[in-house]
Order: sequence, then C-alpha cells, then structure tokens
Amino acid sequence: MSFSDLGLSNEIILAVTELGYTKPTPIQMQAIPAVLSGRDLLAGAQTGTGKTASFTLPLLQKLSSDKSVKSSSNEGFPIRALILTPTRELAAQVELSVREYGKYLKLNTMAMFGGVSINPQKKLLRGRVDILVATPGRLLDHVQQRTVNLSNIEFLVLDEADRMLDMGFIRDIRRILSLLPKQRQNLLFFATFSDKIKELATGLLDHPEMIEVARRNVTADTVTQKVYKVDRDRKCQLLVQLIRQNNWYQVLVFTRTKYGADRLVKQLTQERIQALAIHGNKSQSARTHALAKFKNDSLQVLVATDIAARGLDINELPHVVNFDLPNVPEDYVHRIGRTGRAGASGKAVSLVCADEYNLLADIETLIEQRLPVEVVSGFGVNAQIKPEPIVDERKHRPKGRKRPDRSHSKPLPQTSAKKSSRQTVKGSKNSDERPDTSHR
Ligand code: AMP
Repeated sequence: MSFSDLGLSNEIILAVTELGYTKPTPIQMQAIPAVLSGRDLLAGAQTGTGKTASFTLPLLQKLSSDKSVKSSSNEGFPIRALILTPTRELAAQVELSVREYGKYLKLNTMAMFGGVSINPQKKLLRGRVDILVATPGRLLDHVQQRTVNLSNIEFLVLDEADRMLDMGFIRDIRRILSLLPKQRQNLLFFATFSDKIKELATGLLDHPEMIEVARRNVTADTVTQKVYKVDRDRKCQLLVQLIRQNNWYQVLVFTRTKYGADRLVKQLTQERIQALAIHGNKSQSARTHALAKFKNDSLQVLVATDIAARGLDINELPHVVNFDLPNVPEDYVHRIGRTGRAGASGKAVSLVCADEYNLLADIETLIEQRLPVEVVSGFGVNAQIKPEPIVDERKHRPKGRKRPDRSHSKPLPQTSAKKSSRQTVKGSKNSDERPDTSHR
C-alpha cells in the first residue's frame, strides 16, 4: 500500500516523499482512512511507530480540501485543529512535523507551551493559525487572558493521552474540552491502555474506530537489551567504562530524579565526557539547547528524567542507558522506545543494583521477556552474589502480579502484563529524591 492509495493529496505525498517515507507504517495504514472518513479514533501506538503522521496527514488533507466556511467570516481565520501534548518538547516536535508534512499547503501552524515568554505567542495568535499544537497548562493561561479562541475547533487530537493523565492534566483537559464546540472530530492516542483512558474515551469519543498497532508493552525487536548488575556506587564508573571502551556516542541516559541527573552530569564532566541534563528544573532554553546539541551530534551524552524525555524523536538513536530503573515498569518500554526506531537497530543497557532487582522483575513480567544479564569484569561481583533484598511483597507488588522465578530458566508467566501497576510499584530507597513531576 502506498500513500496515494490512502487518498492523500499530491502536496502531502510530495512532502513525505522528500522526508524519505516510501510507504505508510501500519498505524498510518489504519488511522489515515479512519480519520479521512470523519470518524472519531481511539488509537494505541507508541512513539516510533509513525503515529504523528498518522493523525497529521489526514488532518492536513481535510483542512486543505475543505476550505472552512468560517475562513471568510468577520472572525478572520479561526483555529480549526487543536493538538494537545503532555510535554513542551513533544509539542515542539509535533508542530515541526505538522509544518514539514504541510510545507506545500497553505496552512499556518503554531506551537504553544510554557517555560517561554507568553508575548510572542499572543502576537502569533493575532495572526492566522489553522493548527495549534499546545500543552494544556499554557493553553489555559491563554484562555484566561482571552488571547486564544477555541470556539471554532473542528479537530481535536489528544496525543499521548495516557501520559497527560499520568501527569495530572485531567482537570485541565476537561476544562479545555468544555471550551470546544460540540460538533468536532476527536482523535485520542495512547501508548498504554488503562481504566483512566477508557473513562476519558467513553466521555469524549463518539462511536470511535479503535486501532492498536504492536502489542502493548512489547519492546521493539530491533533493540538489543542487556542488564549489567553492579553496585549502586559503582554505576557511574561502569557507565564511563562502557562509553569509553565501546566508543559510544549519542547516549541517552535515564535517571529517576532531577538531582540524580545533575549529579551524573557533574561526574561525567569530571571524567571529560561531555554531558548535559534535561529535566523539569531546567529552563526551556537550556532544554532546547541540550536537545539541539544532542540531535546534531555535538553532545556525547544527554541525561534525562522520564518526563523530560517523553516523546523525544531522536532519529536512529544508538544507545539508551537506564542508569536507574524506572519505578513504573511501563516507563522502561517508553525509554527504550527512543532507540531502534523506524527500523534502525539500537542498544538498551540497564545498570541494575541489588535494591532494583524487584523493579527488574516487574519489567520482565511486563515485557514477558527475560533480559540477558552480563557482568563486566571488576564490576558487580558483590551485586551478583548478594541475595535479593527482603521486601514486603504485599507492600511492593500490585495484586495479581507474580514475581518471575529467577532461579531457573522457565519461560515467564504470561499472566499479569495487562494491568497497569502505576500506583503501586515503589522500589526506591532514595525517598528523599523526588521524581521529576514538573510539566508546564
Ligand atoms: P513518531 O512515531 O510519529 O514519533 O515517528 C517516528 C519516526 O518515524 C519519525 O522520525 C518519523 O519521521 C518517522 N516516520 C513516520 N512515518 C514514516 C514512514 N511512513 N516511513 C518512514 N519513516 C516514518
């Protein structure tokens, strides 16, 4: 199947061809006809599947072919499509994609997010904006200041809706929904299905077409995953050795906390490895600067917290390192989704110390896969022979989730991967370090 088989216009096909896309990805094959038909959509797809184009291309097609009745009214040119994203980086990235895909169309796009001055955004809003890509917080700031008018929205996209809910945006989303016209097409994208998504979808979508590509919580085949067992206080040394020995470049390293990210950057810098951090306490310009350097290959290591890194599209990223395992097993899947994308192969390495064994077990249960363990000579011997810490299973484990038996090589139980464990998994000993929860 080709893009022209999907009924897209020549202008759109030319733009995607110039980006090197030769055929639609599975999510695009399913979502594009559904959106063109005018139906609401509930779509399960992770970043890396081509999901942005799956909603943007048909949106562009509809907006460009149906010259809205309102465009010649007294209101000037109303905003016709609203795309909400959980993070600033994702908003910037999606808006860039919309602009690229629509470069041969006469449609104006705008990215709107916090952490930067509101005045240039107000100025842009006084001109023509057809498609607005926004984070909920800043959009509501504009609503409050009456600098944005959402009363003509025809298309609403909630991108990474599960993440928005996790980040506590539900009230903001409901407030935004209350400002939109009732008659509109809604597209809801999620990476991991949950009861909260179901509830949101039930209230929002009208007889939606449901599509889901790649089984939930399954990691890409193109990613080689490996675990290094190592004592906590030797993780940095091991990372330095891995980077040096293997000549790793463009390494995305995840830490669980902002403090941990800053500390690691300091340590790497002392070792003369060029590193910068992105997390919620960094200014928007520092985040943009670090990301730009990383993307154009002039920064060896980018250290990020989960929220800051969410949805980053860094093409063919070769290495992802979990310096700390995430508390939420689903975040492991999201993290390593940064690598091995669009067919490219990548390596995902996790540095796991003894008090993270229970988190590792949760991840393996979720992905229904046992991760190969390696020990680098000189590292991790203590961690290897140490017994697993005694934890109160009832406190640490969601109901119904079994710990895989790690003493032999039976296949993992196929039982519990379906349920989200978000509320219950807490493996950290460092409770003084707060996870990155900032989002505006
Ligand atoms: P996304 O899932 O939207 O973050 O997209 C992941 C990556 O796949 C991006 O770098 C896109 O540019 C790329 N991409 C999207 N659609 C296609 C396609 N049909 N063929 C090749 N690459 C694509």
